[in-house]
Amino acid sequence: MIVIVGAGPAGIAAALQVREFGLAFTVIDDNPTAGGQIWRGDADRTRMLGGELRTGTRVLSIDAAAHTLLVEDADGARWVPYSKLILATGSRELLLPFPGWTLPGVFGAGGLQALVKSGLKVGGKRVVVAGTGPLLLAVAALLRAKGANVRLIAEQAPVSALAGFAAALLRRPAKLLQGAGLGWSLAGVPYLPNCWVTSAEGAGQVERVTLRRGAKTLTEECDYAAIGYGLVPNDELRTLAGDSEDVIVAETGDVEYAWLAGEAAGYRAAGRPLDESALVAARAFDAALQGAFALRPELRELAAPETLVCRCEDVSYARLAAWGSFRAAKLQTRCGMGPCQGRVCGAAVRFLFGWPDTSVRPPAFPARIASLAIQEPVTNGDKL
Ligand SMILES: Cc1cc2nc3c(=O)[nH]c(=O)nc-3n(C[C@H](O)[C@H](O)[C@H](O)COP(=O)(O)OP(=O)(O)OC[C@H]3O[C@@H](n4cnc5c(N)ncnc54)[C@H](O)[C@@H]3O)c2cc1C
Repeated sequence: MIVIVGAGPAGIAAALQVREFGLAFTVIDDNPTAGGQIWRGDADRTRMLGGELRTGTRVLSIDAAAHTLLVEDADGARWVPYSKLILATGSRELLLPFPGWTLPGVFGAGGLQALVKSGLKVGGKRVVVAGTGPLLLAVAALLRAKGANVRLIAEQAPVSALAGFAAALLRRPAKLLQGAGLGWSLAGVPYLPNCWVTSAEGAGQVERVTLRRGAKTLTEECDYAAIGYGLVPNDELRTLAGDSEDVIVAETGDVEYAWLAGEAAGYRAAGRPLDESALVAARAFDAALQGAFALRPELRELAAPETLVCRCEDVSYARLAAWGSFRAAKLQTRCGMGPCQGRVCGAAVRFLFGWPDTSVRPPAFPARIASLAIQEPVTNGDKL
């Protein structure tokens, strides 16, 4: 049985490909429906996978030597065997700490998008969208379509980098058209390159943000601030799997790239040869995007000594700066050891201090004690 973790575009593409080859598969996703980040809650995608989809199910660990996964759902936990495993676990947003970032009303850009897709009403709300990357445009367009008053979009990348990216767009007409469509739907909303939020203020809720643009400082009143600094791959399971030949990692990126990567993973799982030219082109475009929207060093200086970096365990920047590695900081401050297990602060700490997190251990997600007590993988035909 081929097991696919993740029912976003990459996982769906992998599943459809494997189905086309006539092979048995199961898709596991921790969300209530298929679709991943971009098609969140889309009933059609869920129907597309039919009975082979297990939602509300989270993979906690992998024993690659035994070809088994530890999964947990509402009914409990169990070890599930696989012949080939496709990891299509996507990415999460990078949030960087700055004074006021923990105020209610300050969200990740994709985070606010996800809440709006799940029903949060933003009609009439004044929103500042900031951070970096094309996701800011998609978020701003959605907010506007839902009636929000998008005050401005602050893009940290300099104009020169954006011009370079525009040149790469010229070689991808579909993307160019998509960008033009977003630009049209955001007509009248100021788009400020070379600009980033330095602080958020308000009494118990964000009321305004301060931004830096070159040598200038500006202030914008708002009800919500949606601030995201790009994406970080969810690679915990990949790390736990090690170098196993039967584990295939589907790369992630924008929806087209993720789809192609998922298809390629399906081919690899089935042992079929694939013409990878479209995937190679998508990878090259992604590299251009990463280069254009690389984070500027000034963002490392946003946090004040007292700014919380790990909001689960209330660890400030100053407390972290005293240590020389993420491991030492974890041991001494509990940074990254709270409910999010370093999913938010881990990537921030990597950017701020250059510390990689080398301490991925099972369970990959917070789990029930009873789930951890299941010690032995069952490899004799256990079904999901
Ligand atoms: C918040 C956010 C918003 C985004 N919005 C856009 C957008 O508007 N436009 C755009 O082009 N791109 C957007 N992206 C980028 C987006 O990730 C890709 O476009 C696309 O969704 C990638 O598809 P994927 O299948 O690789 O990953 P995803 O869509 O992220 O799917 C991965 C799935 O795997 C599941 N998963 C991960 N780990 C486990 C586990 N251990 N157990 C069980 N399930 C697991 C996740 O819950 C998720 O459903 C967004 C990304 C984020 C983080």
